[in-house]
Amino acid sequence: MIIIGSGCAGNTAAIYTARANLSPLVVVGHEPGGQLSITSLVENFPGFPEGIDGPDLVENMKKQAETFGAEYLHGTVEEAELSSRPFRLKIDGEWHETRTLIIASGASARWLGLPNEQKLIGRGVSSCATCDGAFYRERKVMVIGGGDTAMEEANFLTRFASEVTLVHRRELFRASKIMLDRARANPKVKFLNNTVVDDVHDVSKGEVTAVRLRNVETGKTWDQEVDGFFVAIGHIPNTGPFKGKVDLDQDGYIVSHGGARTNITGVFHAGDVQDRVYRQAITAAGAGCMAAIEAERFLEAEGH
Ligand code: NDP
Repeated sequence: MIIIGSGCAGNTAAIYTARANLSPLVVVGHEPGGQLSITSLVENFPGFPEGIDGPDLVENMKKQAETFGAEYLHGTVEEAELSSRPFRLKIDGEWHETRTLIIASGASARWLGLPNEQKLIGRGVSSCATCDGAFYRERKVMVIGGGDTAMEEANFLTRFASEVTLVHRRELFRASKIMLDRARANPKVKFLNNTVVDDVHDVSKGEVTAVRLRNVETGKTWDQEVDGFFVAIGHIPNTGPFKGKVDLDQDGYIVSHGGARTNITGVFHAGDVQDRVYRQAITAAGAGCMAAIEAERFLEAEGH
């Protein structure tokens, strides 16, 4: 069997299926370890009262899967043939066959593409308030975006931060009225509309200290001091090779057909590639477990 993705979902599916003697091959992909590999301390994964670094957590999962015989292959899935079995996947130019498939390829955070953004990820730049909000007690943070995620993150961050500035590139918001009203009613949230970010500082200090902003109407630029910079401009599910083959919604997320099932018998989903709501390490791990159990039952029913 093949598992696509090496984040929490893929690694948990690998632990379960390897332990069931199914010899899973895990395709590692272009973001090894998934979203956890770009976070710092994870304080909400049960079992680690002191917290654990994201990259360590995901590496431990991989080791655990390898202990039971899972194999890892670095490569990108370029094409998928799922209309007949065995399923066929083209990975870095080479075709691989599999009796069952778990798609755990995740969703990548959309970034602004600022010169310093990637250099400060995990050092003040974040795409997940639930993951990193608690590091900003009594500090100033900024949230970028005008959708529901931005509103939700801004509100959530006011539990910790002394001030949350929400920066949006237009006057009007994409967010639903109820979410927008909630953020507007929160005295700790300050709005900066018609404003874009030109860059985030300070790479030389290895942490976020300020953000360079620009008003799109007046052209005025200025630096605003903040300690945390949360980008909430959406996610992109990694489902490119499955377009037209697996049921996807209008944004490219896999549509669940109950449990971990996709519309194709024998093809299962796990984690953020299907989940646009919870997006947590623990929910992805749980989804990986569900997909593994369903894949195992599928193979058993097929007599393998
Ligand atoms: P959305 O696509 O809805 O919003 C993205 C926001 O980011 C938009 O305001 C967009 O601006 C802005 N943006 C995109 N690219 C850039 C850029 N390069 N620079 C600056 N701003 C940018 O994504 P969300 O993650 O907010 O939501 C995704 C889906 O999940 C939605 O359907 C949402 O309703 C749902 N959701 C629901 C929640 C709930 O109900 N509790 C919570 C969270 C999400 P612009 O408007 O100008 O395009």
